[in-house]
Amino acid sequence: MKIDLTASSHLPTRFGAFRLQVFTDVDGTEHLALFAGTPSDNCLVRLHSECATGDILGSLRCDCRDQLEMALEKIHEAGQGLFIYLRGHEGRGIGLANKIKAYALQDQGQDTVEANVTLGFAPDQRDYGAAVEILKHYGLKQVQLLTNNRRKIDALEAAGIRVSKHVPLWAATNPHNEGYIDTKQRKLGHLT
Ligand SMILES: [Zn+2]
Repeated sequence: MKIDLTASSHLPTRFGAFRLQVFTDVDGTEHLALFAGTPSDNCLVRLHSECATGDILGSLRCDCRDQLEMALEKIHEAGQGLFIYLRGHEGRGIGLANKIKAYALQDQGQDTVEANVTLGFAPDQRDYGAAVEILKHYGLKQVQLLTNNRRKIDALEAAGIRVSKHVPLWAATNPHNEGYIDTKQRKLGHLT
């Protein structure tokens, strides 16, 4: 996979000051890389899957925004690290409209995995090829991954990037996302 660095600037945020770079995929998808310090081996890394409902609208159906905020806080606090915002990852790779259709099925009693399968998708369709290319761009061969997701660790290791440590991001649950988080742990290999 080829990915191009297409833009860079400084980005002051409520979590601190970062540098922002945009990487454009072969299909035109624009991923964001936000970093503090100079990323180097063993720094903190977050591979954050895009979630418009959680990240932008503050939805309580998932824990995405909490994880986004915790990751940026930890990277800023460490003074070094890389946050990659992966576009095209809505609903574990099924797209925004399909994710909302899956929510409607969950309103009728299905869990997050059953809903994706009912719609004709695999429970998790995310591809981490772009993330791997971005990590390689920064020369990272070994990282401390901010995640609760075993699959992200496996995807990086399969691509030859060692995860020396995983740093969990636990948010307080709420009545709307308890079932979702429980399903991720029982059915999707999320760490508990
Ligand atoms: Zn979400």
